[in-house]
Amino acid sequence: MCAIEAGKRGRRVAILDHAERLGKKILISGGGRCNFTNIHCQPENFLSSNLHFAKSALARYTPADFITLVEKHRIPYHEKTLGQLFCDRSARDILEMLEEECRSAGVSIFLNTRIQEVTCPENFVARTSNDEFHAPVLVVATGGLSIPKIGATSFGYDLARQFGLKIRDPWPGLVPLVLEKEDRSRCCDLTGVSADVIASSDDQQFREKMLITHRGLSGPAILQISSYWKKARPIRIDLAPDRKLTDIFLDPKEPRTLATLRSELRKILPARLADRWLELHTPSSWTNAALSDLEHHLHAWALVPAATEGYEKAEVTCGGIDTDELSAKTMESRKVPGLFFIGEVVDVTGHLGGFNFQWAWASGAAAGRAL
Ligand SMILES: Cc1cc2nc3c(=O)[nH]c(=O)nc-3n(C[C@H](O)[C@H](O)[C@H](O)COP(=O)(O)OP(=O)(O)OC[C@H]3O[C@@H](n4cnc5c(N)ncnc54)[C@H](O)[C@@H]3O)c2cc1C
Repeated sequence: MCAIEAGKRGRRVAILDHAERLGKKILISGGGRCNFTNIHCQPENFLSSNLHFAKSALARYTPADFITLVEKHRIPYHEKTLGQLFCDRSARDILEMLEEECRSAGVSIFLNTRIQEVTCPENFVARTSNDEFHAPVLVVATGGLSIPKIGATSFGYDLARQFGLKIRDPWPGLVPLVLEKEDRSRCCDLTGVSADVIASSDDQQFREKMLITHRGLSGPAILQISSYWKKARPIRIDLAPDRKLTDIFLDPKEPRTLATLRSELRKILPARLADRWLELHTPSSWTNAALSDLEHHLHAWALVPAATEGYEKAEVTCGGIDTDELSAKTMESRKVPGLFFIGEVVDVTGHLGGFNFQWAWASGAAAGRAL
């Protein structure tokens, strides 16, 4: 996006990528259909140590701008849920659109190009095994550490450090959580069972689906909360949002038995999960106090995950180049004129739902318009 914007303004642009093709993450995104933006994109949909930083770029390149581009290329798309836009056919449509825009903006693309060293005697010099690229500006768009097997590297952070820029320590985000052994043995035989829940951690909460996996928990609600989770802290899961299981006992004729509870909970949760949860939380008695305790646990099931599945499985990398180092308008380094950082390598991370691509497009456009 940065190359396209700069190329359209007549700049001579070279993209250097060590991969054998561009946009591999685009191809695997959104289950192969690329959730390319979110029509409800707001600054609140991002994590950053400075929540104001992303506002300017997001306001100057909006979801509507990207949709205009998608429609110009006649790419069919649909809204799946919660404002998330996906390709009808394949993520390949988005990649081909960007490649075509690069071609018409006169951008040169160098693939299989491993950068060995960057220096800045006067202009920037990027040295590869068989070439040298000289330019008055250098834009770093090398993403985060997620999914090393498709080529993620720490290049962007290393380069920032080399030039004396501060980094906010990165951590894996939008990633499944691994449970402690004891919790795993309690629920992971229910692999594949899912439920609509509210997952929360400190002051963040997300109402979406949760999925039990063979090592712990996943699904959109868990992925969302994983970006906020800090080691050794609990997450809380409301297994029955907006419902009150024990209301059935307001009727004095209703027998206070496990069978009644089970049949009520099965109306809320998949049967296997309902039964298991009641086995683990059988009321100690049938008093109002014990039932209210049960109700409380159902809405605030507290778990302390052992870990996340790490960068191998994380959709994004949180943290990154400290936003204090960059101009919010152009993404240029304040310390090193001509050096820009855009996309996921910056300490701006979106929630699940098309926000990470919207940040990549918006920050790319902000830099591209300033080159
Ligand atoms: C499985 C998966 C699914 C996702 N689905 C979605 C989704 O549906 N919607 C959404 O909004 N976000 C999604 N994301 C997140 C989104 O893909 C990223 O946030 C986005 O691609 C970041 O863009 P970027 O340009 O900053 O970095 P990247 O897309 O990671 O691109 C970085 C580029 O730099 C190159 N590179 C890296 N290191 C070097 C080096 N040392 N030398 C040369 N080149 C290098 C890489 O080859 C790559 O081409 C998903 C991520 C994953 C992993």
